[in-house]
Amino acid sequence: MARSNTIRDINRQIILNYVRERAPISRADIAHETALQRSTVSLIVEELKADGLVEEVSGESTGGRPPLLLSLRTADAVAIGVDVGTARTIVATSDLAGRVLESERFDTPRDFNDLIANIVKHAGQLITKNKNTIEGIGISLPGLVDPESGKLYVPHFKWRDVPVAEELSAAVGLPVSMENDANAAALAELWFGRPEIREVRDFILVLVEEGVGTGIVFDGQVYRGEGGAAGEFGHMTIGRGAPVACASGSRECWEAFASERSALARYRSLSNGLNGDADAARFGDLIDLALGSDGAARTALKETAYYLGIGVANLIRGLAPEAVIVGGPIVRAWPVISEDIRNTVEATTCRGLPSTRIIASTLGPEPTLMGALSLVLASKFASVSIT
Ligand SMILES: [Zn+2]
Repeated sequence: MARSNTIRDINRQIILNYVRERAPISRADIAHETALQRSTVSLIVEELKADGLVEEVSGESTGGRPPLLLSLRTADAVAIGVDVGTARTIVATSDLAGRVLESERFDTPRDFNDLIANIVKHAGQLITKNKNTIEGIGISLPGLVDPESGKLYVPHFKWRDVPVAEELSAAVGLPVSMENDANAAALAELWFGRPEIREVRDFILVLVEEGVGTGIVFDGQVYRGEGGAAGEFGHMTIGRGAPVACASGSRECWEAFASERSALARYRSLSNGLNGDADAARFGDLIDLALGSDGAARTALKETAYYLGIGVANLIRGLAPEAVIVGGPIVRAWPVISEDIRNTVEATTCRGLPSTRIIASTLGPEPTLMGALSLVLASKFASVSIT
């Protein structure tokens, strides 16, 4: 790429990011804050308007004609996110700002070909309905994903190196990118989380679902490691005799102590309720019970929070991030669990280490769907941050 193009691309991303973060904003304010020439800003804004990325909105009048301000153009669906979970899959559209517009969900089939057929059907309907506005599809998967080589391994379904991205892309004619669910959610926090999280440069997202996964962000970039295999802290050894086995059959791993399944197993041993399989819907029931002051449910969640805290303390010792973000459905139980996590971290972290904030995800109950959408959206803003 020619150097002048590179600089223009960077300026374009800087301006697009300013509009995203500060909208509604005027051209003059962008020029003032970025120290770019007013004419450069105007030229790039015209390009962004022509590409359908930004639009003009009327500002507040202070007497004369109301000023024309800039906003992200969010009317259209531009991305499709496919969030493949162990229990259910969500296919959804969003606008440029990451707002979910429409979503469809179905039980995740165990057979890979059935999964692809289902995704193609739902994504195809959304693409047709939105005419030509969809620009790409992002997929988050509960397993090891190497976005570069396309290699993947999903232990729950024993899918290994199945051609998810290739088959979907061939079927719908759009670019498809995929990522591990926790990494994708970390990317979503980085780009679409609340400002207090977006300003953090080093953080670890702990995704608590059927298993426990982590997404590591260093200096504003997701750290993937060799072959995309970084972040498997869910399988670090925490102790012995966990209430359930991890995805690989061990009762010593963090996820065996701190996953949704472990909380449900604790609840079952404390009470007679909730028989049968420990699926996600039942975990929602457990949270409802705990928020409604059911003693056994509260105890089960608080014990799970203790083990979450043990693992978080280990991450802090090893990596000293600015923040640890807890994500997934368990965030709804934050009033019940946050103290237990923080107290455990404080009690088990050796003194002298910098203090790490422990916060709940701001992405809502489906951070991995936001992650899937971010795979498409973040590339539009690219890796230029506002300081
Ligand atoms: Zn394990």
